Amino acid sequence: MKNEQGIIGLFIDGNYFFTEQTVEHRNVYHQTLLGHLSQADATHLNLAVEAASNAQKQWAMLPAYRRSELLFALAEELQRNTEEAAMLIVAETAKPITLARAEIMRAVTTYRLSAEEATRLQGETLVMDAVRGGEGKSAFTVLEPVGVIAAITPFNFPFNLVAHKIGPALAAGNAVIIKPSSQTPCCALWIAEAAKRVGIQDGVINVIIGSGGIIGDALVTHKGIQMISFTGSFDVGLHIRSIAGLRKTLLELGSNSAVILDQSTDINLIAPKLASGACAFSGQVCISIQRIAVHESQHDQLCSLLKTIFSGWIVGTDPAESNTSMSKMINSSALIKAKNAVQQAKNAGATVICGDDYHEMSMWPTVLTDCPSHLDIVQQEMFAPIVVIQKYRDIQEAIDWVNDSRYGLNTGFYSNNLKHVWHAIRTIKSGALLINEIPTYRADHMPYGGVKDSGTGKEGVAYAVREMCHEKLIVIQP
Ligand code: NAD
Repeated sequence: MKNEQGIIGLFIDGNYFFTEQTVEHRNVYHQTLLGHLSQADATHLNLAVEAASNAQKQWAMLPAYRRSELLFALAEELQRNTEEAAMLIVAETAKPITLARAEIMRAVTTYRLSAEEATRLQGETLVMDAVRGGEGKSAFTVLEPVGVIAAITPFNFPFNLVAHKIGPALAAGNAVIIKPSSQTPCCALWIAEAAKRVGIQDGVINVIIGSGGIIGDALVTHKGIQMISFTGSFDVGLHIRSIAGLRKTLLELGSNSAVILDQSTDINLIAPKLASGACAFSGQVCISIQRIAVHESQHDQLCSLLKTIFSGWIVGTDPAESNTSMSKMINSSALIKAKNAVQQAKNAGATVICGDDYHEMSMWPTVLTDCPSHLDIVQQEMFAPIVVIQKYRDIQEAIDWVNDSRYGLNTGFYSNNLKHVWHAIRTIKSGALLINEIPTYRADHMPYGGVKDSGTGKEGVAYAVREMCHEKLIVIQP
């Protein structure tokens, strides 16, 4: 992916293109130079769209079993090279190595699930004589690929979220142009190269690199693109939706995920899980626990448990070391945003239970309580190792607090009280409700997507395949 001058290329039609204009690309933890990133312009974009458009026509003509075999082969290739791929994640994001390996395992699963879905592109049969005028007619639907998909991905899961675009897109017979985060281009290039190695034809997967504001806009508005699949922040998602026109647009956006613990919860048992749900990978996970509602009788116990657990975490160390709990945050603006939000909370009277410590680009797990509801730390997505604890008296108060959010992706609800559980199922506004599980849980075949400002449409392989197809109706009058 890198030439002799250390320039990291764009991957178009199975070949690397190295541009004159470049941007430095550094290891997040060590700040050492990883290379100079090529920057795509309109000419590269046109080449990529043309290559994808030509390749897609042949790819869609392959029998389903062959697309499936190739996706299985890609999964195997990734699994064989787990360590190399995981180390790329470590270098580009400072994700601790144990989490990076776990991400690769998930990406392997995502490609395998996609390989299976490639053989299940089934439409449905309609009962035409259910209505007057339908007598004698037959009808059924077929799923057709949309064509060329622009897949725009964030930095935080640079293998698995790319897999959630490539896998379903290819399963359905589409070609893709990936625009990865500028923080994580090498992870996307690695998988594009691996796809070529296992025999996926050139042009089916292309990777362009460049600033979201420049090449991202040009990609989203390009006439040769039939669908945009975006995972990232709300502001960028909204902007993409506003310029995408009538094209299909799948938006997987952010959240300030919450969990409610009712009085029947064994706080001792679940506290370690709450801690990792809130602060693993420095809270840079879209379904990180940012808010915990706990019954007032258990509030102090929970605060002291979390304080004890976090005091045992190893923070700010090299992500390549297997005992690192949290390393550095992705960049200085992420750290400054988090620090300012904590300061705003303290100014408003919040109590810091632990954390609010910083060194270089690392932030220690920060637990706050007594936070007024209007604060950014409660209302906005922090994407940082920050968790707010809110005490409540009755369960409705907790549900109202959780629902008082612009976001709704995953919500957790702990209870052994069936009445409470059922009430939560009926009233919590969220893409998914996880009973006796933290909101940070995601399995890659689950339907996944939010309500409100958390996005529109669903990923989770089988669901993404549907999103990436047109369902064509066939009516036959014999
Ligand atoms: P981001 O929104 O800053 O960037 C995401 C991608 O959009 C990057 O590739 C970026 O280059 C690109 N981009 C930026 N401006 C663009 C433009 N004008 N046109 C087209 N593309 C543009 O997000 P990030 O900081 O990389 O990731 C964090 C965000 O992603 C958080 O909000 C998080 O919640 C969200 N996220 C959501 C999910 C989910 O499945 N719902 C998963 C992971 C992350």
